[in-house]
Amino acid sequence: MIEDSRKVTTNPASRQERPHDDRGASPDGGDVCSGGLLPRLSHMVGRRVPFRTASLALDQPILSITFDDFPQSAFELGARILDDHGVRGTFYAASGLFGLTDSRWTVAGADKVADLHERGHEIGLHSHAHKPANRMWPAAFVADLAANRAALRRIVPGLTRENYAYPYGLCGLMQKKHLAGTVRSCRSVQTGVNAGRVDLDFVKAVEISARALTEANLERWLDAAEAARGWLVLFTHDVCDSPSIYGTTPRVVERVVARALERRFAILPVDAALDRAGIA
Ligand SMILES: [Zn+2]
Repeated sequence: MIEDSRKVTTNPASRQERPHDDRGASPDGGDVCSGGLLPRLSHMVGRRVPFRTASLALDQPILSITFDDFPQSAFELGARILDDHGVRGTFYAASGLFGLTDSRWTVAGADKVADLHERGHEIGLHSHAHKPANRMWPAAFVADLAANRAALRRIVPGLTRENYAYPYGLCGLMQKKHLAGTVRSCRSVQTGVNAGRVDLDFVKAVEISARALTEANLERWLDAAEAARGWLVLFTHDVCDSPSIYGTTPRVVERVVARALERRFAILPVDAALDRAGIA
């Protein structure tokens, strides 16, 4: 049921699809490819096989702003910009990365997760070890997801049926099937606007970064979401004046929020977006 984003009209920057681009900080600090033949096949098949779908019928386009990993700067600047506009975002936390520093950024610690939750932002799952799902045996994947969930629930006791984002955007057939039975949605890094029938375990998203969504092409993405009456999910990592290639500047985040509000988008965390869309 998943169309290749290169073929849909809701993707004004389709050539920029890069399903392996969520290269956040990892415990070993290295970038990750999709692996050998079996993991690659598992991802390729997994992303095309929906285990549950929902039909989006919105009377107002929705924008969700999400942060992966998430670096300290996303907490300090990204969340603050959203707060200043009275809107909230989703922060996908890989609990095994808390407080770790690599050449790109320092990941925020557990105290920041609690703080964001208290301020009304959503805390999502992003694995514990931040390994690609398709490169873990299913049992190891299940255990890692459980560790992530347990760690976040210790920090935020009220969490239930969290939303999830695939590290590096990589899924895996069996891993995706497991997720379909235990989380509310799974966000991919497949570029596009979510409209019509949506695979809830491979929600499309557009990266806010110099190589994807920028101040210059923001309006085209908003146009696409509006025309499709769809749900545009954005993701980024660090938010600072000199961001990594996986991040963006406060100016761009500010612009995204301001323009979406001016254009009467509902800016909602992922869980609230699903509520708004009537998806259980
Ligand atoms: Zn990540």
